[in-house]
Amino acid sequence: MKEFLIKMQQISPFMIELTYSDGVVKKLRLETIQKNCGCSRCKGTQPAISTDLGVSKVTTVGRFGLKFYFLKGCQQGIYGHQQLRDIPCDC
Ligand SMILES: [Zn+2]
Repeated sequence: MKEFLIKMQQISPFMIELTYSDGVVKKLRLETIQKNCGCSRCKGTQPAISTDLGVSKVTTVGRFGLKFYFLKGCQQGIYGHQQLRDIPCDC
């Protein structure tokens, strides 16, 4: 994708906001992000969801995407920028 992520901000204990270079602002619940985990264990299954899912930190993975250190459940997944952008907004 040609748009790139310019800002990532945690706006509540359970939600982050992503701001893109083309002005799109996306709010995603952390549980929604975990639900889209693409690691080999979760792929094709529905990971357990907790509505109060928090995160201890979020790091960038090169230019590829983001890694979320969820407080519960799977934290193996690396979320590509395109993948995150394709998740419907929770706002
Ligand atoms: Zn996973």
